[in-house]
Amino acid sequence: MVKIGFIGLGVMGKPMAKNLLKAGHQLVVYDIVKEKVDDLVQAGAEPAENCRDAAGRGDIIILMLPDSPEVETVMLGEEGVLEGARPDSIIIDMSSISPLVDIALEKKATEKNLKMLDAPVSGGEPGAVAGTLAIMVGGDASTFEEVNGILQIMGKSVVRVGEIGAGQFTKLANQILVAVHLQAMSEALVFAKKAGLDVQKVYDAVRGGLAGSNVLDAKVPLVLKRNYKPGFRIKLHIKDLKNALIAGRELGIPLPATALAQAFFEACDAAGRGNLDHGALITVTEELAKAQVGEDA
Ligand code: NAD
Repeated sequence: MVKIGFIGLGVMGKPMAKNLLKAGHQLVVYDIVKEKVDDLVQAGAEPAENCRDAAGRGDIIILMLPDSPEVETVMLGEEGVLEGARPDSIIIDMSSISPLVDIALEKKATEKNLKMLDAPVSGGEPGAVAGTLAIMVGGDASTFEEVNGILQIMGKSVVRVGEIGAGQFTKLANQILVAVHLQAMSEALVFAKKAGLDVQKVYDAVRGGLAGSNVLDAKVPLVLKRNYKPGFRIKLHIKDLKNALIAGRELGIPLPATALAQAFFEACDAAGRGNLDHGALITVTEELAKAQVGEDA
């Protein structure tokens, strides 16, 4: 069994690390919040003093951090992963961050004879707990083969989509699809409501046709009850679209619909709803149209 250094024990990292422990792997864990380390130590992990220590004691080092700045700090800091990792160790960044940052970090890792993959996930906390995440991997094919078994413990679908950065680009494409779809849903439902229709019936009528989707099936029942308990928080979706828009600008790809969805998410956040589920995006369109689609539960 390989030894795994695991850094970032939040909503997602904690259950992912616990699944690796349950599968019999030795874990060395670190988080800036000590209580989160203590919780994993009670479950059988060893505590690390800092990221450098966690990296030095693992054959594989997994990162599950909020965004690009945290990943850069953890990788490049004085007490960081690149200072501690032993040659030939494999770093797997499972955070959802800018692809351009992982591409740059992989170059630095290679200079130190380390290997690095990006492997962001979708499936949320329930998927992390159940070990059923969808994992999108970028990086060298043989490095991927070396860690595929470890990734399979955390996910039910593990797909290598291309070279380093490809996992993050895929995750951002996923987040663009969901965001623009949520805005389309918001406009269609408010439109139906203002036309005096029964929105439940409109949904029942369209869901079997071309416009039916997983997004509608997941969100319309919640919107109709005004249930915006997260789920996937608006602030996280804003972070992902920010990374998509930055990558789009760097690569010269116009993303006008993504920019519009981002403006609506930001309006939601400015109204104090940033910690609600991203289905609450509809509240901005409701306010503009002076209409309310769902009933308070
Ligand atoms: P989180 O904020 O709950 O966890 C992040 C953890 O990183 C925290 O425990 C924090 O203390 C730790 N951390 C921050 N800076 C650190 C540092 N310098 N050194 C060590 N630890 C540090 O976030 P999360 O919900 O677990 O999400 C992690 C990543 O997964 C994000 O990129 C997110 O977008 C992505 N993601 C989240 C979900 C979800 O539903 N929550 C779903 C899919 C993907």
